[in-house]
Amino acid sequence: MNTTLGRIRSAFSSLPARATLVLLTFVSIGIVVMGCVGYLKLDEATRDNAEVRIDRAARAAAAITAGTFAGMFVIERDDTGTPLAIHLSPGLDAAILKTSPKFDSLVEEIAATNQGSANVFCLNRETMLFDRFATTLRNPDGSLARNASLGEAHAAYASLLAGRHYTGEVRVLDRFRLAYLTPMLDSGGTVVGALAVDVGWVDDLVRARTELQSDILISTGLLLFVVTTIGAYLLYRAFRPLRAIGAFAHRVAIGEVDADVPYLGRKDEIGTLAAGMAQVVSMQNKLEQLAYYDQLTGVFNRSRFLRGLDAIFEAREPLSAALLVVDIDGFRGVNEAFGHAAGDALVAQVAAALKAELRPGETLSRIGGNEFAIVTEGRTGAGDVEALAAAVLQRMARPFRLPQAEVQTGCSIGIVLLPANARSTQDAIRNAELALNQAKTGGRGRYCFFTDEMSEAASNRAVTTRALREAIDADELTLHFQPQIRSADFGLFGVEALARWHHATRGDIPPAEFIPIAEESGLIIDLGKVVLNHSCRVARQWLDDGFDFQRISVNVSPTQIRQSDFRAVVVAALEAANLPARYLCLEVTESVFVNHGDRTVLRTVEALRELGVSLSLDDFGTGYSSLGYLNRLPFNQLKIDRSFVTDIDSDEQRKNLLNGMVALGKGLGMQIVAEGAETEAEVVVLCAAGCDAIQGYFFSRPVPVGSLPAEVERVSETARTAFARNGIRLAAS
Ligand code: C2E
Ligand code: CA
Ligand code: CA
Repeated sequence: MNTTLGRIRSAFSSLPARATLVLLTFVSIGIVVMGCVGYLKLDEATRDNAEVRIDRAARAAAAITAGTFAGMFVIERDDTGTPLAIHLSPGLDAAILKTSPKFDSLVEEIAATNQGSANVFCLNRETMLFDRFATTLRNPDGSLARNASLGEAHAAYASLLAGRHYTGEVRVLDRFRLAYLTPMLDSGGTVVGALAVDVGWVDDLVRARTELQSDILISTGLLLFVVTTIGAYLLYRAFRPLRAIGAFAHRVAIGEVDADVPYLGRKDEIGTLAAGMAQVVSMQNKLEQLAYYDQLTGVFNRSRFLRGLDAIFEAREPLSAALLVVDIDGFRGVNEAFGHAAGDALVAQVAAALKAELRPGETLSRIGGNEFAIVTEGRTGAGDVEALAAAVLQRMARPFRLPQAEVQTGCSIGIVLLPANARSTQDAIRNAELALNQAKTGGRGRYCFFTDEMSEAASNRAVTTRALREAIDADELTLHFQPQIRSADFGLFGVEALARWHHATRGDIPPAEFIPIAEESGLIIDLGKVVLNHSCRVARQWLDDGFDFQRISVNVSPTQIRQSDFRAVVVAALEAANLPARYLCLEVTESVFVNHGDRTVLRTVEALRELGVSLSLDDFGTGYSSLGYLNRLPFNQLKIDRSFVTDIDSDEQRKNLLNGMVALGKGLGMQIVAEGAETEAEVVVLCAAGCDAIQGYFFSRPVPVGSLPAEVERVSETARTAFARNGIRLAAS
């Protein structure tokens, strides 16, 4: 009911409806006024006509009476000649009214002239009634209706009795006649009778008028109806373009632009309006292109992607869908090796390749520099989604031909099934990223479905990150130092500073746990600074104490060394501690140089060498064994990773590898440090292979700063005994 009312109201609030109403109101008022004027005029004319007729009838009757009874009656008239009274000549008795036989022919003549009836009455003084004695009216049986009297009830009675004439309607046999009654007076002025004429039945007289009036009413109504209908239709048609453009504008407003703007090209106001609309549409298209599409690839951008995901979660019935986040592996390498233009070209080609794997209704968005998202609403079963992920991996494993080079990248994929794996857009993205991380940690080129354990681990990581931030701010991190022993004389080669975190409730948290978290969260930059400053201060103290530690090795993370101000950070640490640069050795992992085109890192490393700081290539042999670049790096120390040292005494192949690495390092003039030696046998082999120094649990675990000098004493002693036992001769002795 309400909606119907509302619809009607809104229909009448439309411009065409209002214009139609206004126009029709004026037309209707015009027609009604005309009709009324006609009606009134007709009414007046009818009345005038009746008055004229009755007046003429009265005059004729008076004249005929005077003529018929020559000399007997004198007619009293007003200025216009209308008879007021009929006077008997002096000397005449009122009795003649009844006795003269001429009255019958008189009434006949008057009636014939007037085309109405005529009657003569004489006043009976006893009954005081006017008795009719001559008439043209007849009874139903045809006889003359003489015997009737006119009494008090009659409309004219009072006037006649007072000697005045009467004009008006009088009742006859339940109907009305328009009559004129003239009193008859004797010479003394006494009323003795009356002459009554009429011009017919009143309803007959006004019938024409009534009929005409109803004709006017009907035709006015008809005219109104026709004018309204045709007018409304014409206006409806005239406003059709306006309605169409209005509806189009509405569709544009709700983002549903489909066909061309209607009535474009018309040479009137509608055409102008349509042209304006077309401009709005093209502007909107441009804005939409900017707002929702990635300019490089032409696929949806991140905000459009978020809107799409929102729609999935906001749908009344939870929609099932799958979200795949695809990350191009080694993208940074391409960017750094061949420049950003190559990176852009790769991204564009990847977008096209991914698009080719999609079915209609599945969307592709670029949600980060090298990250894409696929949303499928059709393929939602784990098997279907797996097939899609496998197809994407397969396509991405093939090389891409860029103008600059042909590159083989591959990708990793994190997958989230909706709504099972997420309750909101934010959830879905976070969980997909967790799955993606898992895929990458598992060794790239893989896809990984999200599981609840991942989000648990992530929330643990979030807690740990917060605690680590607090620990760094509160300066709660400490350093342990692990000695490196010279193979030539078992003296101290150097010490490596290793970060330690003792958590108030969780106890000691190993670096293997908190260093990756620091890397991920960026905390490693602050952590690194703290370690560096602390190490320099400790070294200064050792110098002052006369403890001959040779050099202190400090670990530098890849993120840290990529900071443009890293050289300044090192200089500041050295200056603050007043430590000569030659005592400091920075350990940088080989992985930093996997993209050997990274000029910033190379420049930093060179600047550090110029300062006089030593540089050690940490974890050597673990990742990216493209050895060709080694001679271009200004490193003076090679740290062979523990994985090559473990069981070196029993594994021939490993021994060969070690020998190769040692020869390579020596050939480039580097000192060789082997790390992770846990047994005497391993130490013996490492010495024999020509390593300059050995670091490992066999000699010493990392120890707190206070225990270090005593530990070094003990270690040298252990070493001497061990070597003597193995018959190894010291270079010094
Ligand atoms: P890393 O730089 O390779 O450090 C050597 C790691 O090997 C140390 O572990 C050390 O305790 C361990 N190690 C030494 N000899 C042996 C041995 O004979 N057997 C075994 N199993 N392990 C041995 P730690 O202290 O747990 O540190 C682990 C990693 O955490 C370090 O590996 C380094 O990458 C990172 N890290 C530690 N402190 C820092 C720091 O201050 N800054 C940065 N960026 N990374 C750090
Ligand atoms: Ca190290
Ligand atoms: Ca290492």
